[in-house]
Amino acid sequence: MKTFVRTLTAAAVIAAMTPGFAADVAYDADIVVIGAGGAGTAAAWAAAEKGLKVVTLEKQAMPGGTCKFSEGIFAVESSMQRNWNYGLTRDEAFQKIMNYGHWRGNAKMVRAFVNKSADTIDWMIRNGVKFEKLFSNYPNGLYTWHIYEGRGAGWINLFMQKYKDAGQTLLTNTWGESLITDKSGRVIGVKATNKAGDKITVNAKATVIATGGFFANKEMREKYLRFPTADGLAQAGKTGDGIRMAWSVGGGSEGLEVQASYRPGPRGIGTTNHVAATAKQPHLWLTPKGERFCDEKIMLEWPFAGNALERIGGTMYVVYDQATLDHMEKDQGIDLGVGVMVPVGTKLNKFQTEFADAQKAGWAFKANTLDELAKMTGMNPDKLKKTVKAYNGFCAIRHDEEFAKDPAYLREVKTGPFYAVKSVASSLGTLGGIKANERFEVVTQAEDPIPGLYAAGNDVGGMYGDSYDLLMAGSTVGFAVNSGRIAVESASEYIKTLK
Ligand SMILES: Cc1cc2nc3c(=O)[nH]c(=O)nc-3n(C[C@H](O)[C@H](O)[C@H](O)COP(=O)(O)OP(=O)(O)OC[C@H]3O[C@@H](n4cnc5c(N)ncnc54)[C@H](O)[C@@H]3O)c2cc1C
Repeated sequence: MKTFVRTLTAAAVIAAMTPGFAADVAYDADIVVIGAGGAGTAAAWAAAEKGLKVVTLEKQAMPGGTCKFSEGIFAVESSMQRNWNYGLTRDEAFQKIMNYGHWRGNAKMVRAFVNKSADTIDWMIRNGVKFEKLFSNYPNGLYTWHIYEGRGAGWINLFMQKYKDAGQTLLTNTWGESLITDKSGRVIGVKATNKAGDKITVNAKATVIATGGFFANKEMREKYLRFPTADGLAQAGKTGDGIRMAWSVGGGSEGLEVQASYRPGPRGIGTTNHVAATAKQPHLWLTPKGERFCDEKIMLEWPFAGNALERIGGTMYVVYDQATLDHMEKDQGIDLGVGVMVPVGTKLNKFQTEFADAQKAGWAFKANTLDELAKMTGMNPDKLKKTVKAYNGFCAIRHDEEFAKDPAYLREVKTGPFYAVKSVASSLGTLGGIKANERFEVVTQAEDPIPGLYAAGNDVGGMYGDSYDLLMAGSTVGFAVNSGRIAVESASEYIKTLK
């Protein structure tokens, strides 16, 4: 491996020795990676493995981004799937992804991602990642979700340690601000600032943007998203920096979307909360006025639930009665799991203590009568009673004449006390922004590559059409890691062409 040379100015040396003194610092590298989440970490380690000199910038104190919370990664035709006798093919996966997004995505890019995905699982295994199992997002779903040990943080920390052990540079608390171009328009590095106020220049032959989207940028959210008020989960620092940098050098835009979902309770309620788990079931979902608005089973594909909820203004109450609570708490447990964290069949033994907290916090309600429940939640009492009567009628005949919900999930709302859990349209983050091709070169709106500039992960548009794809479990981490790897392969070919 070549040794990496960092150029320190005299001022930087003084700065390093003097707290509070900012300086100019310059680095030379083959590749600079902006952002060390899922896509950036994969890109950084893939580049390091090729013997390239790499500098990685990470805005936060630690690498990992949102990806550190993730449970698993998409792949198709992987060795693990073969061993588990699971036979979904690349062709089928490709077609399903394109159809799910109504062919609004970039077909060549989707194909490249799908084709690379199995090799990426082997690559991760070769690099020490341990996988626990295959999983789908919901009953009868596709088993594309390869669940790794230790959540995303496990493999990200592992890769970053290998990266640092290989003598590569990771600058944390450092954020990329603008791209450096030469007269011909080639991107030749990035300017950044760190927490100490140092001005950092990384001169690089190729630049990979992987800053994870723009959910933490209110202005961009309001401008580009369908429901800008939905609060994202684990989106700290993701202010669209990479997208804006790419646009500023002529990069095109594509696919700005929200990863639609819904969330019981206020922000910060953990995914393992048992009151929240009762609202992640296809019980009776009501508008703030007390009317049904969808087949509640769409919660299995939560982007659909987010879409339907957005249409009615973003707030709903999930209603069930004591008999249904007994079913979830004591008898058979929950009918549907919450990810892999509260599995199907879990008996909600934390419900009582967590319900008391939720009641105090004002997002869960318990009443002896429907009139009382309406008063507590603000629902119209007549509408609520009418809706419940009609719904109980559907339960009795085992046919939902209104929205055709699977009869397995038709549970009467009859035996008080009655419960309601307030839930809101939410988001796991954003999708898209930068237009790129299947080599993950950033391209102009007219699809001409910008030399030296690559992008990966949620900053890139083209993978999703009009809705975040839940059919292909693990797809955003899959897209991040595979696009990171492909971007580096393209960049290293490009670097070879430079004199
Ligand atoms: C709780 C939770 C669980 C999830 N589970 C899954 C799952 O199991 N499977 C799945 O497919 N998806 C999952 N997701 C979604 C998935 O984690 C993200 O879609 C994925 O992490 C996107 O990868 P990324 O590299 O694009 O962004 P990130 O992983 O968020 O990384 C972006 C990084 O860029 C950094 N950054 C931002 N601006 C700058 C800048 N100017 N300079 C330097 N650095 C910058 C950020 O600090 C961050 O570290 C989950 C999301 C959440 C919230």
